[in-house]
Amino acid sequence: MRLILLGPPGAGKGTQAKMLAEKFSIPQISTGDILRKAVNLDSELGRQAKAYMGDGQLVPDEIAIELIREKIKEEDCAQGFILDGFPRTIVQAEKLGETLKEMKLEIDAVIDFEVDPHELIVRLTGRRSCSNCGAMFHDETRPPATAGVCDHCGHELYQRPDDNKETILKRLEVYDSETMPLKEFYRKRGNLKTLEGRGTVDEIFSQVCALVS
Ligand code: AMP
Repeated sequence: MRLILLGPPGAGKGTQAKMLAEKFSIPQISTGDILRKAVNLDSELGRQAKAYMGDGQLVPDEIAIELIREKIKEEDCAQGFILDGFPRTIVQAEKLGETLKEMKLEIDAVIDFEVDPHELIVRLTGRRSCSNCGAMFHDETRPPATAGVCDHCGHELYQRPDDNKETILKRLEVYDSETMPLKEFYRKRGNLKTLEGRGTVDEIFSQVCALVS
């Protein structure tokens, strides 16, 4: 199964992508996670991406496209994959389409997560992630048993540097102008499935599974 999770920052794509990856035994490919790792390693890619990410801007299309082209050709993607945070522009979607065509593959579904913008700001400002396993928590709605410590692996939780109010507003603006048009792009191709991003994580997961089964 090959899925695209489309939606604004804070819509819950990452959480649902991890759950889908486990259920279907296929990898979650998050361009944001790949780029954050590169920034932490201070690699060439990380140095190129850092300023864009810190400002809430998208990294240039060529960088994101190249990452995905390499990744989806890897062996662990042979049975499918879940794209989380890619594509984010029409150019990226077109290039992805070309790459998949060359590989004689298709996207099965594009799941569109719709969430009220005010709710997104609350979610993002309180969000905490595990520095080791990537599990997500929230100060108010999903606090860990011990403050600052991951329930799953005991490592330290951190707040993403771009999860501050100013950068969040920029990211939401960029989403509206650059990524929102992808809904129409995929709707025209007949594989957009819209999800009302309300309910508990498990309730949303049931809705996602119903859409892809
Ligand atoms: P995310 O973790 O998906 O919220 O992504 C964090 C940041 O990484 C974004 O604000 C962008 O700066 C960058 N990024 C992630 N995916 C892409 C993409 N497909 N195209 C361009 N920039 C991206």
